[in-house]
Amino acid sequence: MQHILDGNRRWVASKLAEDPDYFQKLAVGQKPRYLFIGCSDSRVPGSAITGTAPGEMFTHRNIANVVVNTDLNLLSVLQYAVEVLEVKIILVVGHYGCGGVAAAASNKQYGLIDNWLTNVRDVVRLHETELLRIADPKLRMRRLVELNVIEQVRNLAKTNIIQNAMRGANPPILHGLVYDLADGLLKDLEVDNSTFADLQHIYGTEAPEEEATAATPVAEASAPFIAEEDSSAYEGPKHDPVQGIPASLAE
Ligand code: ZN
Repeated sequence: MQHILDGNRRWVASKLAEDPDYFQKLAVGQKPRYLFIGCSDSRVPGSAITGTAPGEMFTHRNIANVVVNTDLNLLSVLQYAVEVLEVKIILVVGHYGCGGVAAAASNKQYGLIDNWLTNVRDVVRLHETELLRIADPKLRMRRLVELNVIEQVRNLAKTNIIQNAMRGANPPILHGLVYDLADGLLKDLEVDNSTFADLQHIYGTEAPEEEATAATPVAEASAPFIAEEDSSAYEGPKHDPVQGIPASLAE
């Protein structure tokens, strides 16, 4: 613990030597340009590997940099970053040599985390054909790391938070990157907002108040699975008016 406190004092001293008002300026508030979604791995600290300073990057990290649409933590960070802080750029950053991705590619149990890593196993399932074509196990694992990042950028595009932001005046820009532990360099996977557009015919949704004013050709074209079925015919389970529970259960 003393090591941590000593390190803090040295860091404070170095910052004050550069700028005596450094901390007063930061304390005023934050307006970060970036949201960083990365792995919890201790070797991949977002600010250090991107050369950004405190105040520039809002951060969420979890094992294997996964974007899970039921993760309240991730969704809260995303919503606050996009709607309140109005970040301009969202980075999903994976890294070669990711232990989480490697664990997901194995059939060994590690405990609770196995369930979290199911999200990465879903990436394996989606891209199994491509992955099996790569004979070298190391190269196959590197490609899985990349595909995991690409799928997590897609998962961002599936959230109504990003969908609403994309319709706003200043839509955020999505990027997928991979960090190489061996040389410290970031590789741009060149997944961008076209990834978002490609998914909207399946995942796109609109807020109720927008439906009336939305351009109807786009709205009709964007939901084929719903449009082709007569979804209005299904009214949900019949409820007993007195008991307030489905009639089928009440009988
Ligand atoms: Zn990792």
